[in-house]
Amino acid sequence: METVHPHLKRIELGNVNAFLWTGEGGPTLIDTGYPWTFAQLIDQLNAAGIQPADLQRIIITHADLDHIGGLKGLTELSDAAIACHTVEAIYVTGGQLKPFRGVKGKLMTIPVRVAERVYKPRVAQVQELLLEKETTPEGFTIWHTPGHSPGHIVLHHKEAGLLILGDALVYINGKLDLPPRVFTPNMEQAIESLAKLKKLQFETACFGHGPCITESADATIHAFIDKLAGGERG
Ligand SMILES: [Zn+2]
Repeated sequence: METVHPHLKRIELGNVNAFLWTGEGGPTLIDTGYPWTFAQLIDQLNAAGIQPADLQRIIITHADLDHIGGLKGLTELSDAAIACHTVEAIYVTGGQLKPFRGVKGKLMTIPVRVAERVYKPRVAQVQELLLEKETTPEGFTIWHTPGHSPGHIVLHHKEAGLLILGDALVYINGKLDLPPRVFTPNMEQAIESLAKLKKLQFETACFGHGPCITESADATIHAFIDKLAGGERG
């Protein structure tokens, strides 16, 4: 577990991250890892001095299995409100996201659907439906960034200088990148959504996949978005 800010910890769960906010309005968990990393998630919460029952809120950036995997299990240990973008709620509560892209994507969709059936990560209800520019009790402003999923959100904490990107971008092997094409049903929209991040200032960027960027992250991310707009990528 890594402290990325006095009020924010990164919890690594296999190749995906969840985040624990312990500042104002919290404790709040952002994303929940895979179904099979649930025990690790609970261990890491405990190591941070948090019991699932202490959680005020669980915010979901998007309804992919690697982000909602621990959700169902948490509801059995906690009365935390589940929050996600209003468009994503249907997928958190049982609706199936579009199959992944291309032949390879469709093949990968099959084991994901099987895992979803075996682990039943989806919940009956989402208590808080978030909208663009809404500010949560923790002080995060919601930015709707569709593309990787229809109701994908990015969370910006202005005072803390934090941006939690979900899978709007990934940071793997020291390299900033778009989310994998195969898992992104609408890449054009995902790229368009990034324009919203250009207005935001933040020192630290936290990704669903990969380590955080902890210094001048806004400059790095803005430069990446400019490069995309400049057509340097295909
Ligand atoms: Zn992911």
